[in-house]
Amino acid sequence: MSILVTGGAGYIGSHTVIELQNAGEEVVVVDNLVNSSRESLRRVEKITGKPVKFYEADINDAAKLEEIFDREAVESVIHFAGLKAVGESVEKPLEYYMNNISGSLVLFNTMRKYNVKNIIFSSSATVYGNPSFVPITEECPKGKITNPYGKTKEMLEEILIDIQKADSEWNVILLRYFNPIGAHESGTMGENPRGIPNNLMPYITQVAVGKLKKLGVFGDDYDTPDGTCIRDYIHVVDLAAGHVKAVSKLRKKPGISVYNLGTGTGSSVLDVIKSFEAATGVKIPYEVKPRRAGDVPVCYCDAGKAARELGWKAQYDLKKMCEDSWRWQKNNPEGYVD
Ligand code: NAD
Ligand code: UDP
Repeated sequence: MSILVTGGAGYIGSHTVIELQNAGEEVVVVDNLVNSSRESLRRVEKITGKPVKFYEADINDAAKLEEIFDREAVESVIHFAGLKAVGESVEKPLEYYMNNISGSLVLFNTMRKYNVKNIIFSSSATVYGNPSFVPITEECPKGKITNPYGKTKEMLEEILIDIQKADSEWNVILLRYFNPIGAHESGTMGENPRGIPNNLMPYITQVAVGKLKKLGVFGDDYDTPDGTCIRDYIHVVDLAAGHVKAVSKLRKKPGISVYNLGTGTGSSVLDVIKSFEAATGVKIPYEVKPRRAGDVPVCYCDAGKAARELGWKAQYDLKKMCEDSWRWQKNNPEGYVD
């Protein structure tokens, strides 16, 4: 039996495929490559020494999905596929709802048709909005979400909860990721943003490699120790390992479960810059810019539930995340080239 990984050619997906294959799982990847490259999976194959079964397909394409489910013995689905740029989602809400919501509905419906009722869904800390307390536990009430991307995460969580409530054969694990950064230790795989990065770490590494001149720090007047926003950065390989643990949990038929995946440690924007400089010896020029609309000041998790129930805990610190991000960027200044 296989684990079908939608969005498996992407940043988190490809690192997860490595961990799954290393754990002896059979994996089938479905990705339309809208934000990724075939090359990432070739690199997975080099690392694991195993072929990756890949279908280039859009999850909105029901006929194609059925063909795949006809051909493969799918046990469960890890659903990463989706568009994820917050700013773009404000400009193109319809595209985001069609891709993320409609695409997911087509996927869920196909799963039901083939009696595959086990799913792990990539959700996000964004569902907590501006959290009512930190560290954020899974009981923290969901907050106001200000952009369509984040709303698709919240809506898909609710949709999966309703589906599971109506049919207890479904097993649904919602994983709320905090801020994945870092890259595979080999330096051959990492985050490959198209165009100018929106997120902090890829922006820093592109400044470091000389592709961008200067980092803008979005606001230094927040109510935090150094005035910049605090996030819970987590190494992508730790995050990937969390999915392997979630697969084991899914096999125990948990019904519905929700887990935060983060380290439990908050780091400010200036902490990340300093840590990157210390880990790599490369200076990051920056200037303070106005606050970015929609940013929450402080967001970090209590990762205790995942430790207790999944037996998972992040291993890597910020220094390692910086070293690995830099190794990837330095060795692959243009990212993956097909
Ligand atoms: P990514 O863009 O690298 O990966 C997503 C993959 O999905 C890409 O390979 C893309 O080509 C594919 N895809 C998109 N729409 C598709 C469609 N209609 N059909 C088939 N494939 C499609 O992003 P990522 O950072 O690896 O994120 C993976 C998941 O985790 C996403 O759902 C994202 O929203 C979620 N997430 C990411 C973060 C983060 O900071 N990276 C944080 C929280 C949650
Ligand atoms: N950030 C920044 N400059 C950038 C990109 C991000 O100062 O070029 C800040 C951003 O304001 C936030 C933190 O870095 O406080 C993390 O931002 P990212 O977009 O990576 O993650 P998210 O906002 O989704 O948590």
